[in-house]
Amino acid sequence: MFLCSQCEERLSYTDSSKGETKEVCDLCSNLLEHIDDYFEMFRDEVKSYQFSTFLIGLRSQKDNLQRERELMERLGSTARTYKAEFQLRLGTKIETELGYRVDFERPGLMFTINQENMDFSLWVRPVYLKGRYLKRRRGIPQSPWIKPGRGKESERSISEYIGQPVCNFFEGKNYNFFASGREDVDALMLGNGRPFYVEVEFPRNRSSDFVRLSKVVSAESMEGVEILDLSIANPAEIEELKNLRSDKTYEVGITIEGDNALNMEEKLKKYSNVKINQKTPSRVIYLRTDKLRERIIRSIEVKRTTGKQLVLIIKAEAGTYIKEFITGDNGRTTPNLKDDLDINVKIDYLNVLEVK
Ligand SMILES: [Zn+2]
Repeated sequence: MFLCSQCEERLSYTDSSKGETKEVCDLCSNLLEHIDDYFEMFRDEVKSYQFSTFLIGLRSQKDNLQRERELMERLGSTARTYKAEFQLRLGTKIETELGYRVDFERPGLMFTINQENMDFSLWVRPVYLKGRYLKRRRGIPQSPWIKPGRGKESERSISEYIGQPVCNFFEGKNYNFFASGREDVDALMLGNGRPFYVEVEFPRNRSSDFVRLSKVVSAESMEGVEILDLSIANPAEIEELKNLRSDKTYEVGITIEGDNALNMEEKLKKYSNVKINQKTPSRVIYLRTDKLRERIIRSIEVKRTTGKQLVLIIKAEAGTYIKEFITGDNGRTTPNLKDDLDINVKIDYLNVLEVK
């Protein structure tokens, strides 16, 4: 076994077989002699990132660890392992000379050396921006979806309108967009907006002055998308957002043909906490699995009546397909307004007013 001078000193052990021409330490692969080199690599690699805490990782070779364990047992040594020694020495040098702090729990950045090829990799903690969005123009899909036979929708999506500027703002590599539920492409999202977050991977910047960011999103979407209530989110807040199931309030414009349009206000009163059964709507069945779900219609009010045109305010449980509740979707939603009230109904528009 060949040990470098660092390992000999660390374990207070000199191998009697010394004098061999081997140059690579059978334990630390000479890592301990190159602390300064890794320090330089670290400094060069991280200088463009904004962070305050870090952790040094070492992916060590199983054989070397095993060899060290056996040797230390034989010697009755209580010294630090080469892995711990390397992490401690490099970490301490970085703390003293560069001013960053070691954090074992939630480091902002991880610098990991791979003993097998002596190369390193860098991991940077993602940044999560949360907020609420408004959609002021119809026709914007939430995600860049593909329609069969039509290719990618030409209009950019909410996820791109928000995600790309957010990613640029934090100078990240890429982003993931998540929203709590979604509105239809042709529906507006108004009121207090819909909760969302964007995860930005490998952010170089962690600034939190979001005034300009909101303006960029508005400008790039030609006022179609607006973002509000922005803040950096912690993991607990992200978890909460993922599991959020909010009731929604909708404004729906409908037109009813024929005499059955009379007294709608009275007829709609019975929809107070009514349970409905919805099969996956036929318009999205190519995207999602066909299943039956139970949802609650909390209430329906008539906001305005102008001849055959009515404006309804519908409150419903998260995940209710409102259009299908009105039209019935050929019996896939029951009960539904069309069959229940025996009306010939057409939807003129739909807006989401509130996501609680
Ligand atoms: Zn060594």
